[in-house]
Amino acid sequence: MVAAKRSLPVERRLKGVPLSPGVALGRACFYKRQRTAVDSTSQPDSRQEIQRLHHALRWLARQRSVLARKAEAALGHEHAEIFQAHRLMLADESFQSQLAGSIENNGNSAEHAVETVLNLYKQQFAAADSEYLQQRVADISEIQRDLVAYLNREVGCRRCADAFGCGVKRCRLSNHHILIGEELTASLPIETDHHTIGFIVEKGGPNSHAVILARASRCPVVGNIQSPFASIPVEAQILIDGDSGEVIVNPSEATRARYQVKRAGCGHGVEVSMPVPGLKVMANIGQSADVGSALDAGAEGVGLYRTEMEMLVAGRLLSEAEQAARYSEVIRFMAGRPVCIRLLDLGNDKTAQWMGTTAQGGAAAGRRGAGLLLAHPEFLRAQARALARASVHGPIQVLYPMISHLEQFLELRTLFVQAVTDLQPTGLQHGVLFEVPAACLAAPELMQAADFGCIGTNDLIQYLFAADRSDGDAASHTRFETDAVLWDLIQTLSRTATQAGKPMAICGELAGNPKLTGRIMGSGLTAISTSPSHIAGVRRAASERGP
Ligand code: PEP
Ligand code: MG
Repeated sequence: MVAAKRSLPVERRLKGVPLSPGVALGRACFYKRQRTAVDSTSQPDSRQEIQRLHHALRWLARQRSVLARKAEAALGHEHAEIFQAHRLMLADESFQSQLAGSIENNGNSAEHAVETVLNLYKQQFAAADSEYLQQRVADISEIQRDLVAYLNREVGCRRCADAFGCGVKRCRLSNHHILIGEELTASLPIETDHHTIGFIVEKGGPNSHAVILARASRCPVVGNIQSPFASIPVEAQILIDGDSGEVIVNPSEATRARYQVKRAGCGHGVEVSMPVPGLKVMANIGQSADVGSALDAGAEGVGLYRTEMEMLVAGRLLSEAEQAARYSEVIRFMAGRPVCIRLLDLGNDKTAQWMGTTAQGGAAAGRRGAGLLLAHPEFLRAQARALARASVHGPIQVLYPMISHLEQFLELRTLFVQAVTDLQPTGLQHGVLFEVPAACLAAPELMQAADFGCIGTNDLIQYLFAADRSDGDAASHTRFETDAVLWDLIQTLSRTATQAGKPMAICGELAGNPKLTGRIMGSGLTAISTSPSHIAGVRRAASERGP
């Protein structure tokens, strides 16, 4: 009898939201909080419930002190204050007596008292005028969830292909693993051990404390992966890219080599490098909070700020004020270095329910980026005004995504300008992202009209060669990176920009590949934008080539 041949697991890609940068490869380790048996049938005894409540409050206050110490060491005093504020709230007498009152007066269990009293707090904070208080709703939710978890005697439970029930801080097999959970809570990075080299979570915002801590410990995190417990097999190897938000299940050898995975785990920061002559190397960021990694890497500017990531992570369109605050933060941190902020590139595969049905309309590429903004001028208006307000902190290059022809660019720019006339902004420049082949063919006119240009190689390759960028087989996309047709086009675009006397940069995955740096420079381009983790490699390649 012939033995059945075991087929190799097939590579599969899941798209999430990048929350903490870096790349990690490890085994899947699933983490769930599980409730141990609790007798819920008997009538709660108020005295006992109050005692349980006080135990829980004291335990959480102690845990927050640990978090505060860790945050202080990793991030400084300002971040530690968040946890100190939690601790103060837990120790607050009137807070404690409201909880006790809910038990005594209404016969509630301690869990029920925590749920009801903290729900009231959340409602009051959410309705407050102050943006600061509104943002504290997430803190209250965390306190509520942790108290209830303690009272329910929930324990963190882990499983992988070969082990079940490893305790916290103890992987029995000492495997490097990617922890897959429903939510990244503030305590999770602390509860896990040094074998945990990355996180995949279903929920979690970029500004949550947990993500801040993960970033501080240089631990890559990808969020918004739908039903990871169902979509990732237990025996899978996983590669996560915290810069792009990509999760690659069972990556092929070619994919692994491409990512040059560092297996050493959390704690590896971006390599710092100094500018080199002949090539300006800037950083791609997805959220304002990523500006720290850009600076850590020694970026000479932000060459691409993918602003739609802010909205996708928040799960809604951020208000004009919220957007202005984020853009201002990036400009202030970059302290005079160039900042290029891309208008929302939503639609197609970057859709969400809050965008309404026109925006969600299937996979229509024409309704992405520029096309979507024309269909939803209210999105453009809020963003344009936010950018105009942020521009008081420094000049902004506003990049228009998925432009396909001159009239479209002019129409959008007119809408932008009309939206901000009362703000009388100065220091805003308008540029085209060359990523649709038709726009590349119309480059001479577009570069006359625009202030600057940038070549977006990810979509350009996708649409030029009909090579789906989300194709699980990475090689099928990367092989076009060396295609003569693409390089002819890049060179033509570079020449067109020079003739128009306008700057042209290049971004997309190709721009971060050191093997192609020489070729990019040979095309006449002098500015690259790439992920902070690729900056040092690109600079090394540039200085080996010489200006
Ligand atoms: C690109 O298409 O090359 C690009 C930079 O944009 P994104 O990857 O965000 O589509
Ligand atoms: Mg693109």
